[in-house]
Amino acid sequence: MSAKIIDGKAISAAVKEQVRAEIERDKLNVGLAVVIVGDDPASRVYVNNKKKACELCGIKSFEYALPADCSEEQLLELVDTLNNDSSVNGILVQLPLPSHLDEKRVIERISPIKDVDAFHESNVGKIMIGNYSFLPCTPAGCMELIHSTGIDVAGKECVVIGRSNIVGKPMAMLLLHENGTVTVCHSKTKNLAEVCSRADILVAAVGRPNFVTADMVKEGAVVIDVGINRLETGSLCGDVKFDEVSEKAGWITPVPGGVGPMTIAMLMRNTVTACRIQSK
Ligand code: NAD
Repeated sequence: MSAKIIDGKAISAAVKEQVRAEIERDKLNVGLAVVIVGDDPASRVYVNNKKKACELCGIKSFEYALPADCSEEQLLELVDTLNNDSSVNGILVQLPLPSHLDEKRVIERISPIKDVDAFHESNVGKIMIGNYSFLPCTPAGCMELIHSTGIDVAGKECVVIGRSNIVGKPMAMLLLHENGTVTVCHSKTKNLAEVCSRADILVAAVGRPNFVTADMVKEGAVVIDVGINRLETGSLCGDVKFDEVSEKAGWITPVPGGVGPMTIAMLMRNTVTACRIQSK
């Protein structure tokens, strides 16, 4: 294998330690409310991991579990209560929500200064113009992983596969803020392999196991694999065909142990930022 592994576990542990030390040093009282609706097993795992990270960092976590058939009114009322609770600095509603609930309406109800996922329209707009308080956790985590390689994004060819509001679009924006030359690919992109193989920095956020193969990757590229796909065997795999791509790339993130842990670490950082904004 020629690629160096970007160790998301170690880098995320360092971010969480920074957050913990900051909270201890400044004697901050930081609280994060996590709302989970229904009993989706993947959501339950994510929520438990977020709680564990809070404990590690010295952030109080408040969990609110609503039944899968709860009404939208009930959920919106809970969001209102949390918006008005000064011990809650960050509010996170675990997505996806059951289909009878309008995710957009729920997210828009969260106070933008408590929106630690940075999904609220006003936070998305701020990211667009580069004047933001919070960055969405997964793209922000990817940027940390890229920074850890020591490679400067400025002037690099960057290709993002995927254009979701949660990952692909903000990822492209963050690379652009650092002066990358950014191309966003999606399901209608023509000559995908050819476009991807121009990338010095390639970010895959597709949600298809082993989608990115070695012929799509430039020799020496930084490859960031956002995908989390559960195989029939029960094991997790990314969007990148790790065995062959790691022979060609310069740097690569593993799945698990790459982007996933970074997402949670950046959530901890955003929650402290929210606490500081609210105490001003
Ligand atoms: P999504 O389904 O909303 O978006 C997928 C994107 O892939 C779409 O924009 C689509 O255009 C593109 N796409 C689909 N087929 C394609 C094709 N054949 N060629 C090119 N593009 C194609 O997914 P998402 O929410 O952005 O998540 C993407 C992946 O990242 C999923 O596996 C998800 O589980 C994972 N994810 C991981 C984290 C983390 O913390 N590591 C966080 C969020 C999402």
